[in-house]
Amino acid sequence: MRTLDSSTSLRIAIQKSGRLTDKTISLLEGIGLKFDDYKRSLLVKCRNFDVELLLIRDDDIPEYVQDGVCDLGFVGANTVAEDQANVTILRGLDYGVCRLALAAPKNGSIKTTEDFTGKKIATSYPVLTRNYFETKGIKNVSIVTLSGSVEIAPRLQIADAISDLVSTGGTLKANGLVELDKIFDSETQLVQTNKPLSEGKQALIDKMLQRIEGHKTAAESRYIMMNAPETAVPKIKDMLPSMKSPTVMPLADNGMVAVHTVIPIDTFWEVMEKLKAAGATDIVMLPIESMIV
Ligand code: ATP
Ligand code: ZN
Repeated sequence: MRTLDSSTSLRIAIQKSGRLTDKTISLLEGIGLKFDDYKRSLLVKCRNFDVELLLIRDDDIPEYVQDGVCDLGFVGANTVAEDQANVTILRGLDYGVCRLALAAPKNGSIKTTEDFTGKKIATSYPVLTRNYFETKGIKNVSIVTLSGSVEIAPRLQIADAISDLVSTGGTLKANGLVELDKIFDSETQLVQTNKPLSEGKQALIDKMLQRIEGHKTAAESRYIMMNAPETAVPKIKDMLPSMKSPTVMPLADNGMVAVHTVIPIDTFWEVMEKLKAAGATDIVMLPIESMIV
């Protein structure tokens, strides 16, 4: 294995094994980076770009990027904020979406944020939790920092309430807790070191960012094709929330055309029904692998 110091490749920190790992790898592969088996090594060389992945615990990522050990990192906004890391957030990514929630036992004495005065809260996020109470002006809250299994702290009488990461809230419910407030909204972020980078590395980062943008737009778009009478084209054109003017091609049948365009996925069903009413037939929707607008 290469030592950390010997490389001038763009080094990217990702979570070794956890909720963010597969989605981060599939995003990197989706923008064209190829890796050999990334599960078996700590440092994985990219086969087609001057990039290497460092696979570490997510908690270590902000600091590694801050210190310039890694140039980029894919990590939860919660972890970046909790560590108060001095890094540049390049963009948010829509996976690893969760929130830091404040929760208390269902039938206990804590019903609102004000009831927290003088109480003990267990969390893995002491900085964000303390900030929350300070902002609310609630004093005298003591924080018990735990590294995991925070949700059982009230039952063990280690704390009166908790703040913990949730996505659906199922774990809270299963532990007899009710969510009282949201402390922090989180998603995965791509962060960059504030240490100076070579022109080559910066250019590669810019290229990756552009590809990520294209990948996201593609995931949110669909290519649609339909046949229609030529006379219906002006009406169809008005209905299409397309990025550009649609492509209209004549069909062998007189007076008939094929219309092709790209639309945002969330408009598809509504648009399709309207298109049909306007005379379009054989409407086909296709996924798009990637696109640069
Ligand atoms: P590691 O071994 O790397 O320290 P971990 O156990 O701290 O792993 P995971 O549970 O894999 O971390 O969570 C990683 C990140 O996934 C969290 O920091 C958060 O950004 C995000 N995440 C998304 N949904 C949830 C959820 N429901 N609970 C916890 N984290 C979530
Ligand atoms: Zn962790």
